[in-house]
Amino acid sequence: MFISEVKCKSVLNKSGISVIDYAINPYYGCAHKCQYCYAVFMKRFTGHTEPWGDFVDVKINAPEVLARQLQRLRKRSRISFGTVCDPYQPLELKYKITRKCLEILIPYRHRVSILTKSSIIIRDTDVLRRLYKLKVSFTITSMDERVRKIFEPVTPSAEKRFKALRTLAHDGIRTSVFVAPVMPYISDSPDAIGEILKAAKNAGAEYVMFDTLNPYPKVWRNTQRLVRIHFPDRLESFNTYYSNQKMYKVRLRERIRHLGEKYDIDYRFAF
Ligand code: SF4
Repeated sequence: MFISEVKCKSVLNKSGISVIDYAINPYYGCAHKCQYCYAVFMKRFTGHTEPWGDFVDVKINAPEVLARQLQRLRKRSRISFGTVCDPYQPLELKYKITRKCLEILIPYRHRVSILTKSSIIIRDTDVLRRLYKLKVSFTITSMDERVRKIFEPVTPSAEKRFKALRTLAHDGIRTSVFVAPVMPYISDSPDAIGEILKAAKNAGAEYVMFDTLNPYPKVWRNTQRLVRIHFPDRLESFNTYYSNQKMYKVRLRERIRHLGEKYDIDYRFAF
């Protein structure tokens, strides 16, 4: 892993995502190394030659930059942590950049949301509970450890993530689960989806949001390679997803609706 400390000029950046106004990414790069990561496009802005997941640049001055930028931000805004990196990736334990940025946001009444795969977030419960209308979403794509180790090799287990979610929910923090991506023919069976919905309900999540795999060329090649190695019997079905996404999504929505009713938890679609 190649780690460097860098200075950024801006950390509060306008977002192209419709449901948020600004994104904060305290790190360039992400050590979680998810094999379907769409943020891989960020590599070209970093000058790194190492593969995505093998480098992280720590935005060492992010808290000071954020403090300056917030003073100029007049409108109450929706600010999201973790659009192209996980704000609670392992280096956060040492650097605390995310924590410091959150502390700076406390006096403001911006709507903050955090997306993470990490139980490290629990360390910051004292800060989180002081933020205005905070929402924390845990990405959990599969309860199956084998699947997780293949597609998200450096992340905490789903069990640890649910434990963290439960702790936050019990502390009065609004939480949800983001199942993204549902891996076609790998983690989309009624049992696999049902397990997540049940665990989310038991842990106190407000709702579960689902999204499908975005088959950008690099993502598609990589996930297809892993399916070929680890799930050869499902490769043929997996390949049909590429040209048959519309029908796949119709069926998946139907499956999720049915299971959402069964487990009595609010479900949403991002696809
Ligand atoms: S946690 Fe998110 S940003 Fe990090 S590697 Fe995984 S998908 Fe990419």
